[in-house]
Amino acid sequence: MRVVRSAKGIVVQAPAKINLFFEVLGKRADGYHEVETLMCPVSLFDTIVFQESPPGPIHFHCRQTTRCGIRVEAGGGEVPEGPDNLAVRAVQLLRERAGVSDGGWLHLTKRIPMAAGLGGGSSDAAAALTAANVAWKLNWPSERLMPLAAELGSDVPFFLDGGAALCRGRGERVEPLDRFGLWDFVVIRPPAGLSTRDVYRRCVPPDQPRNVNPLRDALLRRDRRAAGREVFNRLQPAAARLSPWVDRLHAVLAAADGLGYGMSGSGTAHFVLCRHVGHARRLARRFQAMQVGRVYAVQSCR
Ligand code: ATP
Repeated sequence: MRVVRSAKGIVVQAPAKINLFFEVLGKRADGYHEVETLMCPVSLFDTIVFQESPPGPIHFHCRQTTRCGIRVEAGGGEVPEGPDNLAVRAVQLLRERAGVSDGGWLHLTKRIPMAAGLGGGSSDAAAALTAANVAWKLNWPSERLMPLAAELGSDVPFFLDGGAALCRGRGERVEPLDRFGLWDFVVIRPPAGLSTRDVYRRCVPPDQPRNVNPLRDALLRRDRRAAGREVFNRLQPAAARLSPWVDRLHAVLAAADGLGYGMSGSGTAHFVLCRHVGHARRLARRFQAMQVGRVYAVQSCR
């Protein structure tokens, strides 16, 4: 993650992610699902600023630039503004494990829509861990931060690693994809979101799981058309049963001239793979005019 020192403290940009591939391999005895997913960070960012302070509490302030707290079809709703916020939990966990007595001021500027499958909370947690590690001068290497990240959430290790990756287990086993390259997308977040737990509950693991290799190979040889054909998400039928927006967006995206499209994570956000940045901007303008939700032209990033 990109770390910048400023007069206000340590600044870390926390990207959203999209899942180009998502397969559910089975349900485990501990209640989690075994998954295989190919994710990439994209250029839609929350911002974390952390300033250390003398021994005392962690103060937290959250600013929402747009209405990020959207209607969730079942459960959830707003970005937590207290100790339940994943960014606060990350800083508290590091403080506890490292035996730090110093306090700090944690500011979160929220731009990533929540309950959308874009991983905003997990990204904020990884960014907060990174910022506090620098501000408190702990200098823990990422191997030492990784177990804390996995404890905070399945997607947090992916964000801590920072690049596109194939993730397995419950998502916390990260295999970086080093030659991923630069990809253009349009991301659409419809006016209603979904709770990850509700979507998983309705998902049935397949007898014959889909293989991620054709997509991985197409991405690594920069074959945009083949990559577009291989976009896949096993959670999509379950999400479609919970929110009418899933089928509605699929109809809109099928009629557009993208190279491929799909739902990110447990939804409801969707993305379109584009030919280049100009194509992404053109499609984004068209979707904006259709009023199907918030629209972002983004690029893959580290
Ligand atoms: P994922 O794709 O990782 O399942 P998501 O994008 O669907 O996540 P998030 O926006 O990360 O969902 O938030 C999911 C839940 O986490 C919400 O119910 C929210 O109340 C809680 N949460 C805690 N901290 C944060 C945070 N910093 N930003 C957003 N949500 C947070």
